[in-house]
Order: sequence, then structure tokens, then C-alpha cells
Amino acid sequence: MSWEDNVRKVIPYIPGEQPQTKNLIKLNTNECPYPPSPKVEKILGEMKYEDFRLYPDPNASELVDAISSYYNVPGDQIFVGVGSDDVLSMAFMTFFNSDKPVLFPDITYSFYDVWAKLYNIPYKVCPLNENLRIVTGDYYTNNGGIVLPNPNAPTGVLEDVIAIEDIIAHNRDVVVIIDEAYIDFGGKSVLPLIDKYDNLLVVQTFSKSRAMAGMRIGFAFGSKKLIKYLSDAKFSFNSYTMNIPSIKLGTASISDDEYFKSTCRKIMETRRRTKCELKALGFSFPDSQANFIFAKHENISGQSLFCALKAAGIYVRHWNAPRIEDYLRISIGTDDQMDKLIAFLKDYLK
Ligand SMILES: *Cc1c(COP(=O)(O)O)cnc(C)c1O
Repeated sequence: MSWEDNVRKVIPYIPGEQPQTKNLIKLNTNECPYPPSPKVEKILGEMKYEDFRLYPDPNASELVDAISSYYNVPGDQIFVGVGSDDVLSMAFMTFFNSDKPVLFPDITYSFYDVWAKLYNIPYKVCPLNENLRIVTGDYYTNNGGIVLPNPNAPTGVLEDVIAIEDIIAHNRDVVVIIDEAYIDFGGKSVLPLIDKYDNLLVVQTFSKSRAMAGMRIGFAFGSKKLIKYLSDAKFSFNSYTMNIPSIKLGTASISDDEYFKSTCRKIMETRRRTKCELKALGFSFPDSQANFIFAKHENISGQSLFCALKAAGIYVRHWNAPRIEDYLRISIGTDDQMDKLIAFLKDYLK
């Protein structure tokens, strides 16, 4: 008998690399290539280090209030956490306690199965069809809950509100989580449905469209009841998930809608251009509504391209996984970064 017999052993999620060298073109973790709003910088400059002596507000009320007025949702229908990873993990723990399997796509955010295993939640994956689309009928079966990213990651494919509502409507007896990490890049949120379906949790993040991945701010909307259950679990786990800078700087970010919208527009315009360039070079990809493109080349393997790009200082994401090993997930950077990517590919493919 060893102490190790009673250790919970898990295979962790592997995030994209965060190389510490400078001058790389980093298109591997879907960060925003632009800085956060200047209002964030201003508030950061006004912060006093003495303030860190005290615990933060356990309810993060300032941030919740800002989200509440911006999205026009009452504060008791909002939950905030340390990035949406924290919110999602807490939601898995709180809502997925059935003996029946939780459902999610086979090609999706690779954290879902990690949380399922961590919390001993049975799960079943539903294969995307040959166009990398969700098959809504797969989600009509008896299950213990559903989690779907929309747009999906790493495919970038957006399902319309009608398709998502159809899945929710067929699953009133379980919690349905819609992970909208990329919704601000041209998608339509299912947020208005939280008043119609008390079993719907909509999760969003400051990490992509608000350029604040390093601040770790995620949030969720749901019925009052759903949010109460989530809060109860959170307060049984860690009262102070949100630190003082995250609360203050997240609030500042929300206050600058013009900057937020113009940043999203810029990224969408760069995405449009990049799609044309990649197509001309022999790449194919599902139409992305996120801040990345999931592309494969007609002649060259994903692994070869990934290595060649990396050697040239251009980081993209690649998975050695069934069905997707020939794809690269390329985050949308600045126009200049994308020009350099395209120039390299042109030269490499010659
Ligand atoms: C990036 C991402 C998240 C988590 O991001 P946080 O930085 O933890 O907010 C969640 N879901 C999907 C699908 C993502 O791509």
C-alpha cells in the first residue's frame, strides 16, 4: 500500500505554448493582437498598491454591476470567475451530477473532457459532420447535460440561434451550457434566451474580444436559480476568486464600448482578408466566425506546416488528434502579422 494509491490522477489540459522569446508572431492561443482599452490603462495607473492589503469584494459587485448595465441583465443573473475556464469548471461541478453522460462534440474545446474526468462525470462525444457542423439531432438523446461552444473551437463554425434553441428546447431536464468565448466576432448570442429557458447558462470571457487574457475574467448569464446554485458552489470552494485588479480593470474595459467594438471590427476585417489569401494558397477551412481560422492545405500535412512555421518564429496551434491532424488553428493577429504569415507561406509553398 502506498499513499499514491489514493491520489486522484488526472491527465491535464495542455494550453498553447507561451514562449518567452521576443519577436515571435504568436498566433497560437487566440489572444487579441491589440492592447485593452486605454481606459484600462488609465485605471491601472490610478490603482494604489496599499489597496492590495484588503481582501477583494467577494461578490465582485463593481464588475457585476458593469456587466449588468452593459448587457441589460439583472446582477443576480450574472456569475463572474477567473477566466471562463474557472466559470466552466465550476459549472461542470455544479450542474453535471447525473449518471447519464454529458454531451459535447468530438472536435471541440479540449478542456471539456479534462473537467469531466476530473469531476468523474460520464460523457459522450457527438461527432461533427463532414463539414465540421454540429448535428442537432445527436443532442436529443437522454443525457446528463450539454456543453457546446458557439462558435465552436477550434473549428470557428457558428451555429445560428435557431439551432442552439432547438437543442435547449429538447433538453429542458438538464443544464445546457453555451460557451460563447468567441461570440463577439460576428456571432449572435443566445443570451436573450435565458429568460425563456431557466436551464440555459451562457458563458463569455474578457480573454479574446476584450484583449484581457492575462487578467483572467470570465462571466456567465443564467436564470436566478441557476446562478444561485453556481454561487453556492463557488462560495464553498473559494470566496475570493476575483482579485482587485481584475475587478477594477474589467469594469474599466466594459465602460469603453467604442474601443471594444472597433477592435472586434478590425479583427473581423483582418479575418476576411486572411481567408482570401489562404484560399489563394490552396488552404481550405470552414467559414470562421471567431478570431482564428482552422485551415488545412491540399498538399502539405499539418505537422510539417506547423514545424516549418515554428522554425520561422510563427506560432500556430496544431493537434495530433484524429480527424484534425492536418489542420492548423491560426489566430487572427494584426494586419502586419498576417502579411508576414502569408509571405512565409507563399515562399514555403513555392
Ligand atoms: C479561450 C477559451 C475559453 C477560456 O478562456 P478564459 O481565458 O479562461 O476565459 C473557454 N472556452 C473556449 C472555447 C475558449 O476557446
